[in-house]
Amino acid sequence: MDLLNTLVDKGLRRELPTREEALAVLATSDDDVLDVVAAAGKVRRHWFGRRVKLNYLVNLKSGLCPEDCSYCSQRLGSKADILKYTWIKPDEASKAAAAGLAGGAKRVCLVASGRGPTDRDVDRVSDTIKAIKDQNEDVEVCACLGLLSDGQAERLRAAGADAYNHNLNTSEGTYGDITTTHTYADRVDTVQKAHAAGLSACSGLIAGMGETDEDLVDVVFSLRALDPDSVPVNFLIPMEGTPLSQEWNLTPQRCLRILAMVRFVCPDAEVRIAGGREVHLRTMQPLALNLANSIFLGDYLTSEGQAGHADLEMIADAGFEVEGTDQVTLPEHRATVGGGCGSHESAGCGSHAGGGCGSHEDGGVCGTATPESASASASASASASASASALSEPRTDLVSVRRRGAGTDLAPNA
Ligand code: SF4
Repeated sequence: MDLLNTLVDKGLRRELPTREEALAVLATSDDDVLDVVAAAGKVRRHWFGRRVKLNYLVNLKSGLCPEDCSYCSQRLGSKADILKYTWIKPDEASKAAAAGLAGGAKRVCLVASGRGPTDRDVDRVSDTIKAIKDQNEDVEVCACLGLLSDGQAERLRAAGADAYNHNLNTSEGTYGDITTTHTYADRVDTVQKAHAAGLSACSGLIAGMGETDEDLVDVVFSLRALDPDSVPVNFLIPMEGTPLSQEWNLTPQRCLRILAMVRFVCPDAEVRIAGGREVHLRTMQPLALNLANSIFLGDYLTSEGQAGHADLEMIADAGFEVEGTDQVTLPEHRATVGGGCGSHESAGCGSHAGGGCGSHEDGGVCGTATPESASASASASASASASASALSEPRTDLVSVRRRGAGTDLAPNA
């Protein structure tokens, strides 16, 4: 297929595909999905070999958020029966992080629900970062605390944070349909603040909220322009008790096409499969390792992932290897001298994006949305997406609320 040959050539050169090419990837048929995976896999292996980076989420503060991100079980008015707790102590967070690191993770993602941290919250998280790094010298720490005020990114960096996550989540044009309490511009601003402070920017998206193919291409092109080092791709987990609980719009094949498109547009970024991996890719998860070079180990923020040992077995069975702490994740042109996570301080690669809060839902970072309007537009765009592949049957049997790990007395899944 000429399209795929062109995209592979561009990916190896870090050349931006055209919008039409990105849209064409999303429009390929299920019959062609293996060809698409094989092509994007060449780009993935060129930049990241067969390494899979494992990340581990620690939910420092769960639920009770004043924001209204429609996809999020921690949102204002959520009826989801999730764990709700305020800030856990640094030693408790360190204990949870240690379980993930023992399981093979090299990055710990410290996430807290809420619009953004107060200066006191930054102090708390700084203490937590110190507690984790005192015990684990080589760990990468990413903070995901929502919208940042002036100076907070610098303070987190000084406290030892390596990265900051804040997702764009969806296109600028539809952002207001999923969240009303903050704006797309707020999110971009936080990603830029993190970037300017020398933190490695992590920013991604959530697919499956009823967006069109054009929306997906818009947000991924916006991410490429912001140039984050890592791009988490969440697949919406339609949690009961949230406005988007009926949005089961994804098939495994569609998830693979989305990941392939992200890989072609952001060829040398760490593409991470985040929330929804087990729910939507299901038995196709191993194929997705040919596209993404990073996953979360264990549970998500408010829902359970598959058992940690099953992740490790899947990686080995698929012919990949877990990335060690002695290996640098990012290609040389992106990696920070002496660092492992690839902050842009010394990179000069020219890809900067902004993420931000949007990884507070499962698998990602804090995001924001609600409305009935979201459901309406979601239904309309779901129809558009459905033209390329049949809608997925609801698999509520695969969605379990997290009941262990941080904020509980039970051992975490790692
Ligand atoms: S995504 Fe973050 S800001 Fe949005 S409702 Fe959830 S916890 Fe709050």
